[in-house]
Amino acid sequence: MQWETFEYWGQKAVRWGANYRRTLREHPVRSQVEMGEILKSLPPCAPEEPERMEDIFADFERTILPGMTHWQHPRFFAYFPANAAPASVLAEILADTMAAQCMLWQTSPAATELERRMIEWLRDAVGLPAEFGGVIQDTASSATLAAILTMRERALDGKGNTRGLAGQPALRIYASNEVHSSIDRALWFSGIGADNLVRIPTRGPMRSMDPAALREAIAQDRASGFLPAGIVAAVGGTSTGACDDVAAISQVAKSESLYLHVDAAWAGSAMICPEFRTLWHGAEHADSIVLNAHKWLGAQLECSIHLLRDENTLRNTLTIAPEYLGTHGNEGEIRNLCDLSLQLGRRFRALKVWFLLRAEGLARLRSMMRNHVRWANEVAERIAIDSDIEIVTPPILSLFTFRLAPAGLTPDALDTLNLDLLARINDTGRIYLTPTRIDDRLAIRFQVGAIETAPEDIDTAVEEIRNTAAGLV
Ligand SMILES: *Cc1c(COP(=O)(O)O)cnc(C)c1O
Repeated sequence: MQWETFEYWGQKAVRWGANYRRTLREHPVRSQVEMGEILKSLPPCAPEEPERMEDIFADFERTILPGMTHWQHPRFFAYFPANAAPASVLAEILADTMAAQCMLWQTSPAATELERRMIEWLRDAVGLPAEFGGVIQDTASSATLAAILTMRERALDGKGNTRGLAGQPALRIYASNEVHSSIDRALWFSGIGADNLVRIPTRGPMRSMDPAALREAIAQDRASGFLPAGIVAAVGGTSTGACDDVAAISQVAKSESLYLHVDAAWAGSAMICPEFRTLWHGAEHADSIVLNAHKWLGAQLECSIHLLRDENTLRNTLTIAPEYLGTHGNEGEIRNLCDLSLQLGRRFRALKVWFLLRAEGLARLRSMMRNHVRWANEVAERIAIDSDIEIVTPPILSLFTFRLAPAGLTPDALDTLNLDLLARINDTGRIYLTPTRIDDRLAIRFQVGAIETAPEDIDTAVEEIRNTAAGLV
């Protein structure tokens, strides 16, 4: 392909994209293809000779599109959102076209300096104090792994990277049962081991970990020769939106001299609304916080905002300086960002944040989130009236869980019934929901978060859930 052709097809692609977004309601939310269907329709070998872009584009529409689940669909109520506002899409096109590798300040000064400013904008927007700096990671999984590695190095006086863990006392990390599986994996990857993730029991409607139990677990571990290294608090857990009492946990972290990481991957974006900040009250005392701007906020994948109270703790964990990278530009006031991330290579992620925040403005983003929260509450109310549907966990921000629970069924039969309900709902493609397990029983999650969701979509969701449920009992 030549650049002249790129211009023509680039315009076509943008036009296609705009039309796609405008007509999303015509598509089923979750792809309705059978497994293997797409694979079967693809040629087994790469072509030797160039093919015509007309053909490639036509195959994209014919073969690929039916196999897409539409995350930007206004009736996507599954998982958490992965929003991509138009301005952020545009910025990605520009960033992808320049295709800069932004590892060091000098490999693109604008990328490093804009990233620093965007971290400050978002830090202020979510109400955190000015001492916080940070970095944009690809995903929350990476941010959390970076935090766990920092805990490891801090606990081992910076010797873990060189000596490894052999011969050391077993390190311990503390979290509740409500934390995301990325914490388990961070324990695997850091060499600490998932057996050393100590699960603290939760309590209350927010399913938050019990600070007294946390304190006791740490004391017991110390007495048994373990080496406590850090705590991971959840704000907006994936299953039900569980929130730990960060203020109370941070006091434990402080008195025990442990590093505290807060996983607010989903809920963190909502903190641009001051009224939601009670959910992470005390977050300013955390050492590290991750919030995914690529979820609710609208900067598309990948864009995890990793806020750090002291950047140097992470920098000391991750910095390596081989000769071929040089150190130019890293002595000054503006530091190289590859020293704060696991990967060396870095995309220019700050550009989409900048475009997004300027093109939308914080006020509009706030009102979008407030609508979502209000609608989630409305749906929870409306589906439970005069029906066999029960709300299992009430809305935390824009997420709640429910299940169909007619009288007289065994717990196992209820699980089967709800799986059936979920499959029927998703097979229509009108809305898309996903399951979870709460206290070992199946429940269905409902979250509102897509940028384009409108009241009519909320009505459709209520109708779809009520009617499908009514057909099953
Ligand atoms: C989505 C999510 C994650 C994982 O985020 P990635 O960016 O996909 O790694 C972790 N924790 C919570 C609470 C989440 O909602």
